Amino acid sequence: MWSDDMASSQPSRSDESEGQLLSLLEGRTCPACSDGELERGVYKDKRAVVCDTCGTPRVQVWHPAPVRSS
Ligand SMILES: [Zn+2]
Repeated sequence: MWSDDMASSQPSRSDESEGQLLSLLEGRTCPACSDGELERGVYKDKRAVVCDTCGTPRVQVWHPAPVRSS
């Protein structure tokens, strides 16, 4: 019962998707300030892209289906 779920949720696959997302965001202009640029970094021990000017993190964790209830 658990084997299929384990196969589809291995950390390595999540890291791969996360790395692809980071590479997509890297180099984009910062949404929080006018002249910042996003670069790869670490935010709260997780890989993220952060603004090189204001330090705003753009990605903390990878959520395949983000749900915001508020
Ligand atoms: Zn910024």
